[in-house]
Amino acid sequence: MQNQFLLTPIEYLKGVGPLKGEVLKTELGIFTFGDLLNHFPFRYVDRSKFFTINELNEDMPFVQLKGIITEIHEIGEGRGKRLSGTFKDQTGEIELVWFQHIKWIKDTISINKTCIIFGKPSLFNRTYNMVHPEVEWIENDKPPKGMQPVYATTEKLKSHKIDSKAIYRMMQLLFENKAMSIEEVLPDYLLTKYQLEPRGKAYRMVHLPANNTEFAAGQMRFKFEELFFLNVKIAGLKNKRKRDVKGFVFSKIDYNFNTFYKFHLPFELTEAQKKVLKEIRADMATGKQMNRLLQGDVGSGKTIVALLSMLIAIDNRTQAAIMAPTEILANQHFENISQLVSGLGLRVGMLTSNTKKAAKAKLIEALIDGQIDIMVGTHALIENDVVFQNPGLVIIDEQHRFGVAQRAKLWNKQQTPPHVLVMTATPIPRTLAMTVYGDLDVSKIDQMPEGRKAIKTVHRYETKRHEIFDFLKSEMANGRQAYYVYPLIEESETLDYQNLMEGFHKLKQIFPETHYKIGMVHGKMKAKDKEIVMNAFKKGELNMLVSTTVIEVGVNVPNASVMVIENSERFGLSQLHQLRGRVGRGAEQSYCILLSSVKLGQVAKERIKAMLDTTDGFEIANLDLKLRGPGDLLGTRQSGLLDLKIADLVKDEDLLIKTRMAADELLKEDPLLMKPENIRLRNWFEQLRKVKGDWSRVS
Ligand code: ADP
Ligand code: MG
Repeated sequence: MQNQFLLTPIEYLKGVGPLKGEVLKTELGIFTFGDLLNHFPFRYVDRSKFFTINELNEDMPFVQLKGIITEIHEIGEGRGKRLSGTFKDQTGEIELVWFQHIKWIKDTISINKTCIIFGKPSLFNRTYNMVHPEVEWIENDKPPKGMQPVYATTEKLKSHKIDSKAIYRMMQLLFENKAMSIEEVLPDYLLTKYQLEPRGKAYRMVHLPANNTEFAAGQMRFKFEELFFLNVKIAGLKNKRKRDVKGFVFSKIDYNFNTFYKFHLPFELTEAQKKVLKEIRADMATGKQMNRLLQGDVGSGKTIVALLSMLIAIDNRTQAAIMAPTEILANQHFENISQLVSGLGLRVGMLTSNTKKAAKAKLIEALIDGQIDIMVGTHALIENDVVFQNPGLVIIDEQHRFGVAQRAKLWNKQQTPPHVLVMTATPIPRTLAMTVYGDLDVSKIDQMPEGRKAIKTVHRYETKRHEIFDFLKSEMANGRQAYYVYPLIEESETLDYQNLMEGFHKLKQIFPETHYKIGMVHGKMKAKDKEIVMNAFKKGELNMLVSTTVIEVGVNVPNASVMVIENSERFGLSQLHQLRGRVGRGAEQSYCILLSSVKLGQVAKERIKAMLDTTDGFEIANLDLKLRGPGDLLGTRQSGLLDLKIADLVKDEDLLIKTRMAADELLKEDPLLMKPENIRLRNWFEQLRKVKGDWSRVS
């Protein structure tokens, strides 16, 4: 059991009190002493290492200098007002600058008294300065030693004088308290096997490291703990679902599947498509609910797999649904599927938020009556008034735009839950997939249909734009179509909109209407209007489609062979890969042209290089993760699933794999945690459940 001491409200810690306590609660979620302990440092600085001013260079991270502040004064007016000081050591001088809390800081500065300053040096007008350095006064001339933890704070916390140092002092107070004791939660055999520090010791190592190395061992223990618990929960959910949730048994393959496969399949399936189809088929026959993720790079042919899976559902007397993240995609699926199954006499319906009221009412009625076999739609499908008579399979396309919570909505209202297939073109590493997708099984299409020519990708600076225009003209003269994409970034939607409009008008001048038909789609257009333009482009009535990233996902126009991306430095790597995937879908040689400004940051350079070096979605996804972190991957942020305090799913991948194995082993040996050696674990989980509530279903 967690002891009483750790449950003590934070305001009772010496020096905190009700006011600061309130800020700690709202800003950092620290309610108790125990919460404080779990506020881990996000980095450490080596306080035993000092630099001198003549050693400084601009690439240095945070550094520590020892010397004196010789003068300090306020300069500027209003918003430009700041505090400026001169700091000297034996080798030179630098400027210190503060923009905030000027009065408070000014009062704390003693002139000509030895101090240590800590901050990041930057070069300005040929002299170094440091913005908002930390200043520490040396008592008895004894400098601090060893690694010092740095804690996350916020502006609001700082305005209540709770900075990193203050949090550090709170930790010291906690550890000085005699009542403090921390119990172990992991079984001894795991501590031994994985060489983990005991919990209490590990907290001390992390918060008050005694030397330069031991914080790492402490961190390791908590990372292990965090990832291990995560994996136990996920594996537990999966086992529970496999045990408890009944699903439809799709025991046969019948008329629709067979007829389609023999007579209407427009091409031979790739081996990879056959393999995943087998996996899906087997999964839907077990009597358990299928919960499967279908990964396949853009253009790998997920749609046909989806359709064949739906035909199995229909052959087993149930209805199937496919849900897309946008109107355009829903439309595309509707047309594509309607056409493919037209020889079978199946009834296909489509419901989006754009469907007229009367038509919607009719559709819903037909759906309940079982008059519709395949329902295509957008989010509109998960509204409460949409009820299927007998839904057997739900397919979610390009899932990363759907939140986890939205997925859960799909079958909460059902009795026997339909099988679920989630399709995504964001190929993420397997271990990570298993973690972020919770308890989904994974199938992968790891092969492209034959006869595709590799897309040629080039990078050009904006100054060479006219050459690109000439190239576009020659491609269009050969009957090809092109995409021309402008970035859309949330923070400045209006600006980007202007950017797009200006670009469109310029393009219109370069490609005059007398010779070229150019259409435009963007997020602010009405769905209906978007659709008209998209359809015209699909039918080949437009030579060029100018757009924002609304075309990013899924759109299939095989005759389009050129993708030009303006300001490509402003896109994420996976996004660029998605966009590139819009071309190279037909037999013709395709091109992806990345335009950028001449000035490129390091990360932008790496992204562009990655795009030039590889077309492999998995490599790209791996790199993207490294450059960006898992962040908002796949809409998981809302779920709280990945609310990790200390571990990092990308950087700690090895540990993720290890803990996954440990979790699987545990649940295999002792699924209900009844063995005496696992008592601690069970108690801990029970306690967590009380605090955090049961885990809502993650998929
Ligand atoms: P995605 O996986 O990106 O959704 P699609 O399902 O849209 O890919 O397929 C991309 C294109 O490849 C479509 O034009 C589709 O008809 C075609 N295609 C799919 N599978 C095959 C195959 N086995 N052989 C040839 N073409 C295929
Ligand atoms: Mg698709």
